[in-house]
Amino acid sequence: MSSPPTLSSLLTYQQRLHIDCCRCPHKLELTPEAAIATFGADMTFVRLRRILRCTECNARGRDREISVYPDINDYYAWCDRQKYAREVEKYGQAEADRWWNGRGANLLRQ
Ligand SMILES: [Zn+2]
Repeated sequence: MSSPPTLSSLLTYQQRLHIDCCRCPHKLELTPEAAIATFGADMTFVRLRRILRCTECNARGRDREISVYPDINDYYAWCDRQKYAREVEKYGQAEADRWWNGRGANLLRQ
């Protein structure tokens, strides 16, 4: 079995870290760099949730009242940037820009 993912994985896809309280509206959003500076690169998501406590309402992560997760939209944005770079290499800037500008429309197509 592979080891559980740590906060250092946020850097791989440039994902922000979200920490949401499930009992009150308190939410945090940290850049990967800020998350690692605050909690350490070797901190796992599972452990981080377990040790957190909401400063507004005292909800505890170890009671499953706090969610800790990487931003999935940041992951997709990273994938888009990678694809854009490949398109520039293969078809040139103009074609890549055409793809980039049309990629929102692709989301609506089935
Ligand atoms: Zn709270």
